[in-house]
Amino acid sequence: MVLIARQLPKSTRSTYMAAFASPLLRRWGSSATTEHDLVVIGGGPGGYVAAIKAAQLGLKTACVEKRGSLGGTCLNVGCIPSKSLLNNSHLLHQAQHDFAKRGIEVGEVKLNLEQMMKQKETSVTGLTKGIEFLFKKNKVDYVKGHGRFASPHEVEVELLDGGKQVLKAKNIIIATGSEPTHMPGLEVDEKQIVTSTGALSLEKVPEKMIVIGGGVIGLELGSVWSRLGAEVTVVEYMSAIGAGMDTQLAKAFHRTLQKQGLKFKLNTKVVGSEKKDGRVQLKVEAAKGGKEETLEADVVLVAVGRRPNTDGLAVENAGVSLDKRGRVEIGDRFVTASHSHIRCIGDATVGPMLAHKAEEEGIAAVEDIAGGHGHVNYNAIPSVIYTHPEVAWCGQTEEQVKESGVKYNVGSFPFSANSRAKTNDDTEGMIKVISDAETDRILGAHIMGPNAGEMIAEAVLAMEYGASSEDVARTCHAHPTLSEAFKEACMATYDKPIHM
Ligand SMILES: Cc1cc2nc3c(=O)[nH]c(=O)nc-3n(C[C@H](O)[C@H](O)[C@H](O)COP(=O)(O)OP(=O)(O)OC[C@H]3O[C@@H](n4cnc5c(N)ncnc54)[C@H](O)[C@@H]3O)c2cc1C
Repeated sequence: MVLIARQLPKSTRSTYMAAFASPLLRRWGSSATTEHDLVVIGGGPGGYVAAIKAAQLGLKTACVEKRGSLGGTCLNVGCIPSKSLLNNSHLLHQAQHDFAKRGIEVGEVKLNLEQMMKQKETSVTGLTKGIEFLFKKNKVDYVKGHGRFASPHEVEVELLDGGKQVLKAKNIIIATGSEPTHMPGLEVDEKQIVTSTGALSLEKVPEKMIVIGGGVIGLELGSVWSRLGAEVTVVEYMSAIGAGMDTQLAKAFHRTLQKQGLKFKLNTKVVGSEKKDGRVQLKVEAAKGGKEETLEADVVLVAVGRRPNTDGLAVENAGVSLDKRGRVEIGDRFVTASHSHIRCIGDATVGPMLAHKAEEEGIAAVEDIAGGHGHVNYNAIPSVIYTHPEVAWCGQTEEQVKESGVKYNVGSFPFSANSRAKTNDDTEGMIKVISDAETDRILGAHIMGPNAGEMIAEAVLAMEYGASSEDVARTCHAHPTLSEAFKEACMATYDKPIHM
């Protein structure tokens, strides 16, 4: 049904969706007082997007959020504040270390950390308030408080303003997200031993910082504080950084970060910590066991992953089951094992913990409820590390393709041969494309370079439409742009590049 709707002109599409949703609304009774067609628990990117989409499709919708502001982890303590600090610390770093060679002379450039944090808060507040506005515009009931299941069709909310409210619901979406994983032996105080939340609001630049975990969040926040002047050491249990990255790019990225001044201790595990003389002493040893070593830092960032936020939901009152990692167990179409009217999306269930994945699932789950057929293509979900250069990828790594036994072609193109990157004097990195040797269909795209996070959108679109590397190579790209490097990498995949 949605496929048919997609083929309609945009102007008639909403009328079409409303028309097919309306019999459902008549059956449910749109004049119900406290009963909602849909109650969403959690107002993060999964939950708030689901709530807005549901209201747009004519469902009477409420969204319960306990934080006091909408936008979830992403807007409050995740994607948005971290990107604000990444952007502004990059500008500072450029002004200090890069401007002069470009013929830009400035006086003394120095950090005003308080102002940088204020600017971050301005972005966060503007965006979270923007969602409140969208709720009002779309008539979503915003219920501020902690929601828990009272029964399979009832969500009891302990209101932030005091008192309780029970919301009856024909459908419920759990979108309670995730929170940082803690480590045994390291007591988080969000001042000296911090999670990502504390690392987004440090009051001064630490002299020495240790980041435990060389994944996306650790590398982004490690980069921020390194640019602002901290000596940063990343301790990683595995033998490589950037979990999930193509090995060739992970190695290149590691070298780049090292050149920028970050230090790495790979194959290393943390075994304990102690606070002494205002510093943290971190005990580490080789991952496979070995001699203990003590590292010292002013601040230790624990960035070893995130765990689903399902405590306190009283899932047992609805018969909803959790897996060993605390994630809500779901089957097809996001539906929980016990009830077809209770669904779960985003970080609280399986899949990559990414804001855009949560959003896609929110829309698909609501389209399912409204009688359509929501769809998420899990093979075309991009990942981005917003350092400089950025790293972005979509689809399979070369190792994964090799392991699958599929015969493949691989092509790559360095930014050092791209005219725009050369003009901008920003040439670190490359693009690598992997395609099926028989059909030339693109299986994976991996970019390390300036604006990789924007450029990956082209690869995602190509993969969504099942494009071959030749399809992209024969598509006209504007000159001079960084995106020409993607075209050339595709040329290199099915034939030969021109500029190399
Ligand atoms: C530092 C950092 C940087 C990140 N950067 C990126 C990035 O650049 N790109 C990206 O895609 N992802 C990024 N992420 C991950 C991203 O933030 C999450 O994947 C995303 O927010 C998940 O969305 P969600 O809606 O599932 O959950 P969340 O955003 O976690 O939202 C869940 C909401 O539910 C609320 N809640 C929980 N339980 C209850 C309850 N019982 N009652 C009421 N409310 C409840 C919580 O308060 C929360 O607001 C980052 C994360 C961090 C920590």
